[in-house]
Amino acid sequence: MDRKPTQECGSGLSRRTLIKSATVGALAAGIGSQTALADGHAAPNAIKHGFTVGEFEVATLLAGTRAVESPQNIFGMNVSADEFDAVSAANFLPSDIAQFFFTPTVVRAGDEVVLFDTGLNAAGVTAPLVAAGIQPSDVTIVVLTHMHGDHIGGLLMEDGSPTFANARYVTGQVEYDAWAKLGNERFDQKVRPFAENMTFLGDGGSVVSGITAHAAFGHTPGHMAYRLESGGEQLMLIADAANHYLWSVGFPDWEVKFDQDKAAAAQTRKALFGMLAADRVPFVGFHMPFPGLGYVEARPDDRFHYVPVSYQLML
Ligand SMILES: [Zn+2]
Repeated sequence: MDRKPTQECGSGLSRRTLIKSATVGALAAGIGSQTALADGHAAPNAIKHGFTVGEFEVATLLAGTRAVESPQNIFGMNVSADEFDAVSAANFLPSDIAQFFFTPTVVRAGDEVVLFDTGLNAAGVTAPLVAAGIQPSDVTIVVLTHMHGDHIGGLLMEDGSPTFANARYVTGQVEYDAWAKLGNERFDQKVRPFAENMTFLGDGGSVVSGITAHAAFGHTPGHMAYRLESGGEQLMLIADAANHYLWSVGFPDWEVKFDQDKAAAAQTRKALFGMLAADRVPFVGFHMPFPGLGYVEARPDDRFHYVPVSYQLML
C-alpha cells in the first residue's frame, strides 16, 4: 500500500523530467516535431558553427534561443517608441518582439580547449559542445566574460557537480571582486566555489598564448572581451559589449536595461566597434543572431552597421 503513492509520485516526476528533457533536447538540437517547417520560433537547425582563426579551431555554440516580447523594455530605453519603431521597420525587424540567442564559444588552442561562457544551464551548453566533437571533460579552461546568469548558468549540472570536471577557470579580476564584494545568490552558488581553481586577469592579460583579455567595462563592472590572434588572423569575442545587432551595434548610445553603467557601456561599444571597424576584424557577439559572427562598418555619428559573416571564415 505504502509503495503506491511513491510510484505515482515517481512516475509523475519522470514524466515531467521527460517532457523537460525533450524540450531542452529539441531546443538544443533545433529539431522540432513533424511541424518544424512551420514553427517560426524553432531554433535554427545548426547548433554549432566551426571555423578556424590561424591555428585555432573555433566553434560558436547555440546554447539557447527564445523570443522575447516588448524589446524596447530592454533596448533603446532612452529613445521614443516612434524612433524605436521606425528604426526597426527600416531594418526589416518587428519592434514588438525579438529573438534572443545565447552563444558560448569554444577554442581548441594546441592542447588547451578553452570555453568562453557557459550559457543558461549545463544541458544547453553541453549539447552543442558534444555536437562540435568536444566532451565536457575535454574542456581544460572555462573563461567567464562576466557574471550574469546566462554566462555562468552552465558551470554546474543539475546534481550540483561541476559540468567541466577537468577545467580550471579564468575571469577578470575587477569582475570577480565586484561580485564577490556585493554578494549574489547565483554567483555564490555557481562561481564562488571555483575561486581556488580560478585565475584572475586584468586588461591585456593572457589566457593562453594568442588569447588576450580586453577590458570592456560597463555592461558589468569588469566585463571583458577576448582577442584571439593566430597565424596573422584575428577574432574578437565581445561577449555582451553589445547585445543586439541593430539596437546596440547600430546605436551604441541607446540605453540597455542590462548595462549596469549605461554611459560606460555606450563608451565601450563606441571604442570597441571603432577599433573592429578600423581593423576590419570579425567578432563573435554572445547575443548576436546565431552563429553570432559579424563585422562592423563605421557610420556617421558614432554609429555602426553590422555585417553578418557569410563564408569568409570558411576559406
Ligand atoms: Zn548575456
